[in-house]
Amino acid sequence: MPQKIAAGNWKMNGMRASLDEARAVASGAPDGITTVLCPPATLLAAMPEGLAAGGQYCHPAVKGAHTGDISAEMLADAGASHCITGHSERRADHGETDADVRAQTEAAWRGGLIAILCIGETLAEREAGRTLDVLMGQLDGSLPEGAGPANTIIAYEPVWAIGTGKVATPDQVAEVHDALRGRVGPDMSLLYGGSVKAGNAAELFALVNVDGALVGGASLTAADFLPIAEALAAS
Ligand code: PEP
Repeated sequence: MPQKIAAGNWKMNGMRASLDEARAVASGAPDGITTVLCPPATLLAAMPEGLAAGGQYCHPAVKGAHTGDISAEMLADAGASHCITGHSERRADHGETDADVRAQTEAAWRGGLIAILCIGETLAEREAGRTLDVLMGQLDGSLPEGAGPANTIIAYEPVWAIGTGKVATPDQVAEVHDALRGRVGPDMSLLYGGSVKAGNAAELFALVNVDGALVGGASLTAADFLPIAEALAAS
């Protein structure tokens, strides 16, 4: 059975004062699911007990002359158990390719982290009817040999739904997640991401192959994030 996972991606948001929100999430996190917050790396070591913490990216190397980068081993040393790889903002801002994402995912595993590997189509690709081809191509290029439920979570994040307030319809999500289930097997957790909020979470979590969410904006406060985690626990 796939694990149910409510994951939050704080992106480049959060000062030490934001740890109050993380503490509130930790103390309110429902039983029966895994709750993960991925804060900026500056806050990882200060994350509270009671929830899992993740990085947002890792360099393929263990260490070395890579100014400004961070390794999976460093994230783990700071308390991370998870690491996002292949987020579309990294692909766009830093030109990360599927091959880069594969190397980062392998690095996450090497560092003992569970990779939350993100894939997603652009609006132009969806409108051209290429959604499933694009997603399967991204998986072929970025999902390493040896991926399984113990080391990898897949997050389907349509690029056009991230931070836009446009959430994919349940039919759109179901079509993709059913295809992903066929590709990765019965036990790997499949998350949806893209403008998930308390008001739309329950109908997404009711879908048979949606095992949770990767949440951006609505993960920044406990008041927004906990109802999403609760909807998942109740699903
Ligand atoms: C994300 O950053 O992965 C994301 C899904 O963001 P948002 O929930 O803000 O759309």
